[in-house]
Amino acid sequence: MNTQISPAAEVPPGRFGAYGGRYLPETLMAAIEELEQAYAEAGADPAFQAELAGLLKDYAGRPTPLYLATRLTRQLGGAKIYLKREDLLHTGAHKINNCLGQGLLARRMGKRRIIAETGAGQHGVATATVCALFGMECVVYMGSEDMARQELNVYRMRMLGAEVRAVDAGSRTLKDAISEAMRDWVTNVRTTHYLLGSVLGAHPYPAMVRDFHRVIGQEARRQILERESRLPTAVLACVGGGSNAIGIFYDFIPDAQGDARVRLIGVEAGGRGAALGSHAARFQGGSPGVLQGAYSYVLQDDAGQIAATHSVSAGLDYASVGPEHAALHDSGRAEYVAATDREALEAALRLARTEGIVPALESAHAVAECIRLAPRLSPEDILLVNLSGRGDKDMGILARELQLGGG
Ligand SMILES: *Cc1c(COP(=O)(O)O)cnc(C)c1O
Repeated sequence: MNTQISPAAEVPPGRFGAYGGRYLPETLMAAIEELEQAYAEAGADPAFQAELAGLLKDYAGRPTPLYLATRLTRQLGGAKIYLKREDLLHTGAHKINNCLGQGLLARRMGKRRIIAETGAGQHGVATATVCALFGMECVVYMGSEDMARQELNVYRMRMLGAEVRAVDAGSRTLKDAISEAMRDWVTNVRTTHYLLGSVLGAHPYPAMVRDFHRVIGQEARRQILERESRLPTAVLACVGGGSNAIGIFYDFIPDAQGDARVRLIGVEAGGRGAALGSHAARFQGGSPGVLQGAYSYVLQDDAGQIAATHSVSAGLDYASVGPEHAALHDSGRAEYVAATDREALEAALRLARTEGIVPALESAHAVAECIRLAPRLSPEDILLVNLSGRGDKDMGILARELQLGGG
């Protein structure tokens, strides 16, 4: 789907520098090769591209606006701040871009059954939505801990006709849900497509999911050039698996002739602090290793056991990160920082009260870094922040943590 060569281009296929690859049981190799082949064909098929573009426009609501946050800019007294409004998409986050792409691909492959994993439930809701739209059977695996934390999204998935299967193994969160979905896929591989929700897992998922989200950065680049006739100083995005971040980064990666180099800043979950187990900052506290199909940075102990993670936002709460981010980190082309739970909560409150926008807690991590950075820059600088989703799903947590109960 993408022929543009960039410093992060995957050469040989499936590798981003040393990272990525395909670490899977033998039983899944035929399925993943079939997927790779189908994706290569679909990417080269104008009819597939046209159908996807039509759905992104009329069903999901693209292009999303680029919004100049005037009051926040004035308050912080530094760089000009623009928000890319992925929160305005159907189902409330960027995830629908990838689900529509993979849904169309599954239909093209003749698969009538879709399985997915979900953490906060946003990917599960987007998957259930696309399955309803295409008339496909849908099973979503979700840790029982996450089901309790994100009850509303469980009801949304059921409303849309999906079956939500509780996962009681391990920490009962996202990692365990992925393991369970992979077990299902091994058993039902002939009829089933595994609709993975981020730029994680074995090749071709990291490159394919990136391509489906690349539209975010293509639009943002065009929009900022229209408004400002120049590129931003920096692009900021939160990094869970890394799909919204790579989506907005990708078309800013090449250092084109005459363009100033755009800083790319990924913001991970700093959680409660720097101790292993208290955060999900893979680039601060992790090291290279294999988890669930790919070689990347992983939070692990000295014996290579996967560490527990914590974040106030379930969507950032995962022990590994997309392999393309690992390569961008090592090459220095992108920078990765962390924002704590507290900083993200305060950023969410501030954005709500200065701009009337309640961000998802994941997106609030990017806003927190923007709040830190903007006052250190000049009014000539431009910050472009990816607002990956809206905060409705997080109102319970926001109410508790920010004591919105009154009294
Ligand atoms: C799922 C989610 C994320 C984290 O996933 P990435 O793959 O890192 O983008 C971030 N923001 C929102 C709103 C999400 O729903």
